[in-house]
Amino acid sequence: MKKEDFIVGKRALKLENIASDMVIVGGGLAGTCCAITAARLGVKVTLIQDRPVLGGNGSSEVRLWILGATSHMGNNNRWAREGGVVDEILVENLYRNPEGNPLILDTILIEKISLEPNIRLLLNTAAYDLNKKEDDQIESVLAFCSQNSTSYRLEAPLFVDSSGDGILGFLAGAAFRIGAESKDEFDEGFAPDQTYGELLGHSIYFYSKDTGKPVRYIPPSYANTEISKLPRFRSFNLKEHGCSLWWVEYGGRKDTIHDSEEIKWELWRIVYGIWDHIKNSGEYPDSGNLTLEWVGTIPGKRESRRFEGDYMLTQRDVVEQRRHPDAVSFGGWALDLHPADGVYGDKPGCTQWHSKGVYQIPYRTMYSKNIKNLFLGGRLISASHVAFGSSRVMATCAHNTQAVAVAASLCIQNNLLPSQLTNKKWMGVLQQKLIKAGQYIPNHSLLDEEDLVQKAIMNVSSEFQLESLPFDGYWQKLEFSMAQMIPILDGKIPSIQIKVKAEKSTVLYISLQISQKPENFTPEVILEKQEIHITGGESSYTFSFSSEIKDTQYVFVTLQSNDDLQVQCSKLRVTGLLTVFNKFNKSVATSSKQEPPNDIGIDAFEFWVPERRPFGQNLAFNLSEPLRIITKENLRNGFFRPTNQPNAWIADISDTNPTVQLSWPKEQEISHINLYFDTDSDHPMESTLMGHPESEIPFCVKSFRIKDDSGKVIHSENQNHQSIQSINLRKPIKTRTLSIEFEKKLDNVPVSLFGITCYHKP
Ligand SMILES: Cc1cc2nc3c(=O)[nH]c(=O)nc-3n(C[C@H](O)[C@H](O)[C@H](O)COP(=O)(O)OP(=O)(O)OC[C@H]3O[C@@H](n4cnc5c(N)ncnc54)[C@H](O)[C@@H]3O)c2cc1C
Repeated sequence: MKKEDFIVGKRALKLENIASDMVIVGGGLAGTCCAITAARLGVKVTLIQDRPVLGGNGSSEVRLWILGATSHMGNNNRWAREGGVVDEILVENLYRNPEGNPLILDTILIEKISLEPNIRLLLNTAAYDLNKKEDDQIESVLAFCSQNSTSYRLEAPLFVDSSGDGILGFLAGAAFRIGAESKDEFDEGFAPDQTYGELLGHSIYFYSKDTGKPVRYIPPSYANTEISKLPRFRSFNLKEHGCSLWWVEYGGRKDTIHDSEEIKWELWRIVYGIWDHIKNSGEYPDSGNLTLEWVGTIPGKRESRRFEGDYMLTQRDVVEQRRHPDAVSFGGWALDLHPADGVYGDKPGCTQWHSKGVYQIPYRTMYSKNIKNLFLGGRLISASHVAFGSSRVMATCAHNTQAVAVAASLCIQNNLLPSQLTNKKWMGVLQQKLIKAGQYIPNHSLLDEEDLVQKAIMNVSSEFQLESLPFDGYWQKLEFSMAQMIPILDGKIPSIQIKVKAEKSTVLYISLQISQKPENFTPEVILEKQEIHITGGESSYTFSFSSEIKDTQYVFVTLQSNDDLQVQCSKLRVTGLLTVFNKFNKSVATSSKQEPPNDIGIDAFEFWVPERRPFGQNLAFNLSEPLRIITKENLRNGFFRPTNQPNAWIADISDTNPTVQLSWPKEQEISHINLYFDTDSDHPMESTLMGHPESEIPFCVKSFRIKDDSGKVIHSENQNHQSIQSINLRKPIKTRTLSIEFEKKLDNVPVSLFGITCYHKP
């Protein structure tokens, strides 16, 4: 037994001092992906999270689906899912959890962290104070865990604030902003005024379930039983759960930090009031067997402080897709602002304006301009209120903070502070390290002199000829205009033959369209138009275009909507080939053409969006000659996803055992090999609620083996579903050749690969 007598004065809490290379405050998706990325580079990380699980707004406590530039596949950002660790997490979540159970995502995040020996994770531990070593540098963070009654002093040379509200930046005295800039400050036509409001509010969600028998509901006394009078409530639909209830928003006129608990109470009043109305008003007869299964206890917070870095991202960066020498990440969600009155107002729940393509995010937005050893992560990076409307989504936050992690490893190794990396030399190093780890930086590729593949002679067992897609798929009614995206190196496109079924004689209007910027997928330039006179019944038609394509890019062969026509599609699914439709996804747009007011600095353009599998088959076609764009050389062009071209080697569809062979004139010592697979970066992989029809991406190779020049298998894999296989050989091998043999997984999908790199040293 332990017995303590009365003491004069007071007792002190148990104190633990922890020293590491970097302290990350906030284990949302940003902090979590930052910690994993840094730890894998040898950085000793302390990650503290004031709640019991990781993931922030993406966790089972709040239940938001993780999204980013793909924007639910509802804008023109093709192949825009974020790369690196956030991709690894989303792909794993799809594999284990295609149903979108938020609890499973929690376990994946915790597992990923627990597999990293360089991370010390402190859950249920809140940072509440800090010490400084100089006016402009943090020395240590003080934190407390009520579960183990322990206080912590966390010392490190570098800190990351990914706490959402910015507790570290605030306490350290860093410059920050709350609310909206004026239109003039950064020439932002979309900057809102006081009537719309300057801050986005919080939301709380609920889930309901059918119990199979009648369930009564007695609301708590604090429920707002007048809820049915709210203008937004009228649009409520019984099928809405979880993140579909994003519009249950409140608090944009409050102090979203210090009034947070008050906002939460109001949201509870609203949610229980909504449920009371559903169950007891008599207006929802189908609700009899429904019960409330879950209501959030922590509100999802959208906006509070934004800290000032050496650069502030603004509307024009997003809309004009401006390029930055220090680009390390990208965004692509719409500029998405919400009226501050939230559910108590009569305005639509959000205003979203998309840009024509993804935009770069510069490194200078990711550290404080005043506190020299403080990185900024997640939603609090240096962005104007308008640009924050886009950069705030979780996958973008995570992708940015992966760049912070790699920057931190460079700082630690070279005894530098974050702002000292902004010169050309260090930015080049940072960008290259990021791309190698799967980060996507628009308009940047891997240029790696140490990569032995660059010097190898490369042979492949076969190459897919982009000449025809068989006429074996479903018939697609031309209810919406449809376009087949075809990648062209340059010059003319060959003649195209398609199959059409017509109810009666009619005219099919065809056009050839491209994007102004070759890297975009907004086909705003019409190069040519044609008409084909179609007779009734099923027949083939051939047409050709005379336009010369100057830059390597996708052309859009568009077939105008016509209710009397169907076109035949193909079952063949090929990396980097897509059909898109001129329609819209109501989650992120209000019509198939974005038509902003003239004076707000946003572009008008049409949405051309793909359909999700099992739909979304390509148009079946024959070309008069093959296009030489899918070649083995793509394996070493340094791009690991389709950009202005597929960037993949694709084997012939009949090749059941495709092989890539690398050979060198002299024996090479090899200890590390990276393979970059196609996990369909066009797929948003929403993490929660919304199920997906597949748990593995059809294009992704599952089984492969690597052999040396004696035919010995030096590595094999039978269960791959990830985008990158990073293979560290237990013992370096000496060989003049490497043969990588792949197994074909599906009859209708040829094997494909974006890249191979290999190195003497890891
Ligand atoms: C209702 C709503 C709908 C949204 N819709 C989407 C969507 O559909 N898809 C999408 O991707 N994004 C969406 N967003 C935006 C997105 O959720 C946030 O911008 C994003 O979560 C920010 O990531 P973060 O890591 O910076 O912050 P958070 O996810 O908030 O994570 C920060 C973490 O830090 C912890 N923390 C805070 N203070 C401390 C402290 N003192 N000590 C230790 N830990 C601390 C918090 O507990 C939290 O877990 C939405 C937001 C809201 C609120």
